[in-house]
Amino acid sequence: MATNWGSLLQDEQQLEELARQAVDRALAEGVLLRTSQEPTSSEVVSYAPFTLFPSLVPSALLEQAYAVQMDFNLLVDAVSQNTAFLEQTLSSTIKQDDFTARLFDIHKQVLKEGIAQTVFLGLNRSDYMFQRSTDGSPALKQIEINTISASFGGLASRTPAVHRHVLSVLSKTKEAGKILSNNPSKGLALGIAKAWELYGSTNALVLLIAQEKERNIFDQRAIENELLARNIHVIRRTFEDISEKGSLDQDRRLFVDGQEIAVVYFRDGYMPRQYSLQNWEARLLLERSCAAKCPDIATQLAGTKKVQQELSRPGMLEMLLPGQPEAVARLRATFAGLYSLDMGEEGDQAIAKALAAPSRFVLKPQREGGGNNLYGEEMVQALKQLKDSEERASYILMEKIEPEPFENCLLRPGSPAQVVQCISELGIFGVYVRQEKTLVMNKHVGHLLRTKAIEHADGGVAAGVAVLDNPYPV
Ligand code: ADP
Ligand code: MG
Repeated sequence: MATNWGSLLQDEQQLEELARQAVDRALAEGVLLRTSQEPTSSEVVSYAPFTLFPSLVPSALLEQAYAVQMDFNLLVDAVSQNTAFLEQTLSSTIKQDDFTARLFDIHKQVLKEGIAQTVFLGLNRSDYMFQRSTDGSPALKQIEINTISASFGGLASRTPAVHRHVLSVLSKTKEAGKILSNNPSKGLALGIAKAWELYGSTNALVLLIAQEKERNIFDQRAIENELLARNIHVIRRTFEDISEKGSLDQDRRLFVDGQEIAVVYFRDGYMPRQYSLQNWEARLLLERSCAAKCPDIATQLAGTKKVQQELSRPGMLEMLLPGQPEAVARLRATFAGLYSLDMGEEGDQAIAKALAAPSRFVLKPQREGGGNNLYGEEMVQALKQLKDSEERASYILMEKIEPEPFENCLLRPGSPAQVVQCISELGIFGVYVRQEKTLVMNKHVGHLLRTKAIEHADGGVAAGVAVLDNPYPV
């Protein structure tokens, strides 16, 4: 994709002035992060990194991503309710991956006792890149779907004003008008509000499970603020707090500090290092409760990379979404090549293909949060080592998506403005609410564009690699 901003990106002096204006506007709009030096304090904050210009995204792909989001919501919800599918899909993985195994253990314990929760809330984000094809037209390919702690819905609602500002300074009024308005945090909050309402106790609260050190607090506050505007109160607690102050009554209603909880919203609990023994116990307590968990443990498992890979097998989507051939077709069109590494001939063939053409594949463990995948020579070394070991079942192999690079200017606190070759990743936020077996809400609620320099294979905004951006539809 060529950019509109080509000549502007050459004028260093103008870029510096624009960057100063953009940063001030970002700060004024609340595009903020706490600093890495003081991640527990809001006394010192800085702007979240972002691109100086919006990046060009084909309108057709943006529309396609929005159009398939409700299908992804249905699919995740269907997987989370299909115990047999989860059990079968994850059986080899949980033998090798301790983190997935622990999540799965909780899932089994809750099933054995009987699920107390009747309201189910999904807030997810499906991420895509634009695969360049031989005929030059890019195709939308899913990278992954995040079913827990999908972030940046709050800050993404504030960045459009910054890019409009930059274009307005350049007297590009028409272009400024093309930047889409976006308010994921409002939509996410409406999902939480619906689940809270269906829980049916006006005095009950929303519990946000927070990390002790949270640089991205303003993103979370955007959702909290929307809830408070609807008279729904949010308390922020860590897993440690829950293990000390959380309890269930005889009906498995959840209480924290004596207050009843209607909805538990996790912004923690998606990585192994976030769990001490005490935290695992707190997670189990929350899961056993009748509060609506976002996500419940089955929905978290539905977001694993192993599940993503199994969903791409012929017949799987048809089995999970019976009688919905159009949804199945829309979903399948976004799937890249995904390969099981389970022991056996199929896995052997996948490994042979990756070793023969390493630049075309990515090796993924069952991890979230960026920086865990292996590429190139690192992938080759890992595959050679894993080849004859059962451990390989804890990974999946994925086709590497190769978008067409373009130029943009990245702005980060403490670094000079940098014009580099970039690629983007588009995320669409999805919200659904189910009461018992009835789906009462199924929506898309906005988007997130993140852009990174091409030399980084992996990593998101929180990992310090990607920066916030806006799609400029073309
Ligand atoms: P995580 O759960 O850690 O976010 P992802 O699957 O989203 O894992 O991968 C992290 C990053 O790695 C993505 O944001 C993307 O930049 C890159 N990536 C992942 N899968 C691919 C792929 N198939 N092709 C190209 N880049 C990929
Ligand atoms: Mg990701």
